[in-house]
Amino acid sequence: MSLIEMNKKYLRSAADKINLDPNLLKILERPMRVLEVSIPLVKDNGEVEVFTGYRCQYNDARGPTKGGVRYHPNVTKDEIITLAALMTWKCALVDLPYGGAKGGIICDPTKLSEKELERLTRRYTVEIIHLLGPHIDIPAPDVFTTSKNMAWIMDTFSMMKGYTEPSIVTGKPEVLGGSKGRKEATGRGVAIVTRELFKALNKNLRGAKVAVQGFGNVGSHAALFLSQMGAKIVAVSDITGALVNEDGFSAQELIGCVEKYGCLEGYNKGKKIPRDELLYLDVDVLIPAALENQIHSENAGKIKAKIIIEGANAPTTPEANELLSKKGIYVVPDILANSGGVIVSHLEWVQALSGLYWEEEEVIKHLEKKLVKSFKEVWKKSKEFNVSLREASYIVALQRIAEVYHYRGIFP
Ligand code: NAD
Repeated sequence: MSLIEMNKKYLRSAADKINLDPNLLKILERPMRVLEVSIPLVKDNGEVEVFTGYRCQYNDARGPTKGGVRYHPNVTKDEIITLAALMTWKCALVDLPYGGAKGGIICDPTKLSEKELERLTRRYTVEIIHLLGPHIDIPAPDVFTTSKNMAWIMDTFSMMKGYTEPSIVTGKPEVLGGSKGRKEATGRGVAIVTRELFKALNKNLRGAKVAVQGFGNVGSHAALFLSQMGAKIVAVSDITGALVNEDGFSAQELIGCVEKYGCLEGYNKGKKIPRDELLYLDVDVLIPAALENQIHSENAGKIKAKIIIEGANAPTTPEANELLSKKGIYVVPDILANSGGVIVSHLEWVQALSGLYWEEEEVIKHLEKKLVKSFKEVWKKSKEFNVSLREASYIVALQRIAEVYHYRGIFP
């Protein structure tokens, strides 16, 4: 099933449960706007390479669109549209005044120099600039983009407009108006929803065995905060391979290794296993935090974890989702599990718009409150409709979006 079909399947199934107006479903099944751009880059050796980039604004009924920008060789238009749809449901689910967007460039950023990446980012920004604005569409980091890319986007936008506009991106460096706690927010959120699920199931998180696939921004922070909550990080992986340690890793040490070497390769504690074997370990919690489609119909049967927390976007295919559900595995879906990032991005946007900046404790408190409330709403909805946590999340999101359409109507 393609990613686009996956989006429609989840959407239709939730729409069916709440008897959503079929006319509204027709609108929500399609992206509002997708822009494809060609981005010429003068490489350091003088050669010109032309890259393809996208920005999709899926739906803006609830507010300006919000979503990350991804640099990856496997970026496709369908992937960007699907991720923009997920952002739409996510923002509605956690009740942020945003619609959903996503952007990306088909490129291998590991093969570009720092200067080339800067020129690529700046030119991409100019190519999509007429779609951007603090009240139109606000980008953020995603796979292979960081606060540095956000600073380039902000500077380019500001230079082109002739004034400094910090609220045009989130996830930017603090000195440019970035929020305290934004970098850690998605992983912290993953840990918070894991804790809430354990509470709801009357399970003890202390000593629970956790495996984390992908040790980038999301995976590493999820591991850090879960270990602070008493869980044991027994396996981690990144693109270079996987490591297991039954006694539990020090998340801080692993992060130190990635900061120093850029990857987990070379970390000498723990046993090396083939990268994808991490998914099949006998653990309490599995956190896919790398890319989409990692858990699919061919490998879902081998999963022994009792709980899956989707740190990544769309890591589970719908076929796998059904298999996991039959096996009684709890899956906290992406749109809830990784919503911590956009929750703090929203705070960053509000701070930049108002010029008033918050202390880290205030940011964390707000994130906690919002996520706990959203988790409880989803849990309640799953009982009310007797559905999975994924379906319940879509139901909460769709009900909110439908309510907005009820008042706004369909223009003209
Ligand atoms: P990142 O680039 O910081 O990290 C990605 C990690 O995955 C890296 O460690 C990489 O080596 C690893 N990886 C890639 N392919 C792998 C494979 N086959 N097996 C194991 N590891 C693999 O990206 P990120 O920002 O941490 O994003 C990860 C996921 O979380 C993406 O799906 C992204 O859309 C989603 N997400 C990110 C944020 C955010 O705030 N960064 C917010 C919400 C959702």
